[in-house]
Amino acid sequence: MPCEVAARFLILYGSQRGQAQSIAEEICQQAAEHGFTADISCLSNQHNYNLDSEIRPVVFMVSTTGDGDPPDTAQKFVRKIKNKSLPHHHFSHLRYALLALGDTNYANFCNGGKTIDSRLQQLGAKHFYPTGHADDGTGLEVVVDPWIEGLWDALKKTFSSMATSDQQDADLSDCTQDNFHKTASGQEKNKSDLEVDLHLLKLSEADSQKGKEIKSDSSDVETLSTVLVASLKQSVPPLSQSALSVPALPASYLEVRLEQVSTEREPVPSDKDGYHEVSISKAVQLTQDDAVKAAILLELDISEQNLAYQPGDGFDILCPNRASEVEELLLRLDLQTRKNCAVQVNLLKNKHLPKLQPRAYSAASSSLQHPGKVNLVFNVVEFPARPEHPARKGLCTGWLAGHVSSILRPLGTVPASEHLGTSALPKVHVRPRPSSTFHLPADPSVPVVMVGPGTGVAPFIGFLQQREKEREANREATFGEMWLFFGCRHKDKDFLFRYKELERFAHNGTLSHLIVCFSRDEPDAAGTVNRPTYVQHNLRLHAKNVASILLKDKGSLYVCGDAKNMAKDVNDTLLEIIGNELQIDKLDAMKTVAGLREEKRYLQDIWS
Ligand code: NAP
Repeated sequence: MPCEVAARFLILYGSQRGQAQSIAEEICQQAAEHGFTADISCLSNQHNYNLDSEIRPVVFMVSTTGDGDPPDTAQKFVRKIKNKSLPHHHFSHLRYALLALGDTNYANFCNGGKTIDSRLQQLGAKHFYPTGHADDGTGLEVVVDPWIEGLWDALKKTFSSMATSDQQDADLSDCTQDNFHKTASGQEKNKSDLEVDLHLLKLSEADSQKGKEIKSDSSDVETLSTVLVASLKQSVPPLSQSALSVPALPASYLEVRLEQVSTEREPVPSDKDGYHEVSISKAVQLTQDDAVKAAILLELDISEQNLAYQPGDGFDILCPNRASEVEELLLRLDLQTRKNCAVQVNLLKNKHLPKLQPRAYSAASSSLQHPGKVNLVFNVVEFPARPEHPARKGLCTGWLAGHVSSILRPLGTVPASEHLGTSALPKVHVRPRPSSTFHLPADPSVPVVMVGPGTGVAPFIGFLQQREKEREANREATFGEMWLFFGCRHKDKDFLFRYKELERFAHNGTLSHLIVCFSRDEPDAAGTVNRPTYVQHNLRLHAKNVASILLKDKGSLYVCGDAKNMAKDVNDTLLEIIGNELQIDKLDAMKTVAGLREEKRYLQDIWS
């Protein structure tokens, strides 16, 4: 095989919020340093690649979204490879490596990548390098960095085996995950050791460079047959497997160049990223001044850009870096006195100070009710002061709150923005973020249960506006019941969308049941014992109805809001409700709930 061809590989990424994409781009950039040429494409651009005849090694980078789903950009690809008519050897020619991204705070960790990985295996594709599972909950870089470091050696081996003979080609398949899980002594390790293994791989490479490589009996995979030697720079089990870690000196990560050309340019996102600059036509404070968290509703005018969305979809918002942090960086770099120069600050390669990511917000409106507009709602996140830093606001929500301060008005007052021309309105860069599953059922007669405390109620306001309009347009049609479980801290301070929306929906029958709870209000005069304080307490009180909707009426359950506590507790309550209703144990209840997820009748839009 000619050299140039042999050294070329393909990177395919499925990214939801840009992380998988930036890692894929990082690998693409590093490829040249390692003597490779990489082609790169988003999985959604299917005209850019053809795996049916792909002979180059392929590196997949796949994130996870929603309920453990592949990212929206990978959905079409997944549907294509899931086609049941494909023969089991369909991808037997394919050699690939896959890095799955996920977050252990959410159900179905890394399931986006796992789904693609297992289907490729079923269709005969072979790993040339073991799959990595990176956890955003603990820091993606813990797995991503060593995985990328090990990739280059695996690629070299793959190319050399491709370049020799069919016999050696067969050897390639030995470098599978199973082999990777063998220790030098040949003992099997379980999958949970993968992350540790990735570190070992990284360390063993360093050792091999120093000539410390020790060959084992098995000659299958050279890299894996190294034995680690304890040194000041590395430990060996059991120390290396303990939680103890000694901080290493940070490597240099910035390259700074000063240019004499002064520039005042504002960085503007390029069209290819899909961003549009839109006006913020309204900003309304939905909470009282003494509420624990301030919630703000923004109305964006998307009419000129003709942006379409459905209730359940979201929008990405781009925000700039905080000025104080930019100042601090300049101070640390000793560049404050040279502010008049343009400063080129480049990150050195392989160092996940990652690119500032957009923030996603759910649409809290329906375009049937608000043509040309979309509403978003958010809490201004506040981080309390700590010894290491003063109190500060969330980057995007803090910026947005300041950005709209000139037009912000309390609920129920006349919008000042109506007197402002469009040019005077604050602007923001947004990009639609469609959801593949978090939508109302296609059949409007199906009943739905919605659980959305706090700003988690946002998508349900969109659902209800949509349903209200559909009911008006078609009075003869049968519409399923809509139940909303909402919770906030105080009835009179942060009961979002209470008057204009929720009570109207309940009054006109759009909402069949509005069930609310207040976590921090004092018990009423009657001093109700065991009053529900959280949404899951109300779910328990209405267990029969919830179970009947899900198990008998084939209805859907939607949960939106905090992932860390609320969504987990609601999930536990659901297991309890189903277990009690069907008189089954927890394991069987879990299977039933997994079935609901599979059928897309238990959907989550949750954030931590
Ligand atoms: P929140 O902090 O989740 O609080 C809402 C209510 O939930 C409060 O009464 C709170 O009570 C209660 N709560 C606390 N722990 C709970 C638990 N384990 N189970 C059930 N309820 C619990 O509300 P929020 O600040 O509005 O945050 C909502 C979440 O939704 C955030 O994570 C946000 O990122 C996410 N989200 C936002 C959007 C959006 O478009 N803005 C969309 C989707 C999701 P106490 O505080 O009194 O304990």
